[in-house]
Amino acid sequence: MKTQSFIPPSRTLMGPGPSDVSSRVLDAMARPTIGHLDPIFIKMMDEVKALIQYAFQTKNELTYAISAPGMAGMECCFANLVEEKDKVIICKNGFFGERMKENVERYGGIPIMVEDEWGKKIDINKVEEALKENEDAKIVAFVHAETSTGVKSDPKSLTKLAHDYDCLSIVDTVTGLAGIPLLVDEWEIDAIYSGTQKCLSASPGLSPISFSNKAKEKIKNRKTKVKSWFHDLNLIMSYWEGEGARSYHHTAPINALYGLHEALLILSEEGIENSWKRHLDNHILLRDGLENIGINFLVNEDDRLPQLNTIFIPDGVQDAETRSRLLNEYNLEIGAGLGTLAGKVWRIGLMGHSSNENNIDHCLKSLSEVI
Ligand SMILES: *Cc1c(COP(=O)(O)O)cnc(C)c1O
Repeated sequence: MKTQSFIPPSRTLMGPGPSDVSSRVLDAMARPTIGHLDPIFIKMMDEVKALIQYAFQTKNELTYAISAPGMAGMECCFANLVEEKDKVIICKNGFFGERMKENVERYGGIPIMVEDEWGKKIDINKVEEALKENEDAKIVAFVHAETSTGVKSDPKSLTKLAHDYDCLSIVDTVTGLAGIPLLVDEWEIDAIYSGTQKCLSASPGLSPISFSNKAKEKIKNRKTKVKSWFHDLNLIMSYWEGEGARSYHHTAPINALYGLHEALLILSEEGIENSWKRHLDNHILLRDGLENIGINFLVNEDDRLPQLNTIFIPDGVQDAETRSRLLNEYNLEIGAGLGTLAGKVWRIGLMGHSSNENNIDHCLKSLSEVI
């Protein structure tokens, strides 16, 4: 077999992730690899930590990037915070709630499911009922930005409710971070994880994560060892936490971290509030354009994520065939529907570097031509 170097096409990424990666971030990743314990690299890691703290709006010491994608962030939270027979309230209104359930079960906990319809927001009254019925529950877990449907949740109220019933909160903000308001300290969130390839627009494969002191205490006081060696935060704390003094845990993905550093730097230059505003403004632009060509949204305006637009496929339009024409003829990637929404909706991402007017024009023109 004769193989050549791989040269990918230049696509416009407007699906549920990954989003477009800017040339600044790509250039950063192409810089020379140095040792992961090199003092210069360690100094960069300290900056990455500070920049993640900024993105999350937290002072939590236990804040870092897991060397694995968003799903690993999810697994890390449940692996560390769930002990045998712990009850965990899981709010499920889309695809990712089901994965939280899987994680709780695998780490020996008992999931208590609070379900809402796909496309609807989490009903906080149902969560409170579940907490009343399960006085011994330890954790409330939910998704901040449900990428499968385009619905946002209210981490402030849900975390407050969890605390009223002596529970910790675990929040999935893989798609939320940098796209919609998130104030980890002010909202007193206990454990939160994200991804790099959605609104941060770095390459996929890392998971920014943060734990409050309350969560950290719980992890330190576990009766049993964390069942995952890789995710055991008691081991990782010494690797990421002690300034300048890191011991070997695993070899960090050096060049991917250069990319994350640059992406977070871009975010801090723009300012987090401006990033939230840009995502919202661009959603409104896209929404108006789509409504002009007769396309409707799945989600109520109030509950909608600006960075993930779920629209009904117009009557008589083929799903897979249209998406493949967009990809092949227009170099434009949009997302298919998941689960019960498969074949009924498309998901148009306006995440991070992809959230700009050129992309919106390109998407609207291409869509009106193919449908
Ligand atoms: C994308 C996504 C994940 C998973 O992230 P990966 O980087 O693909 O592992 C988890 N939760 C939500 C809400 C997501 O959108």
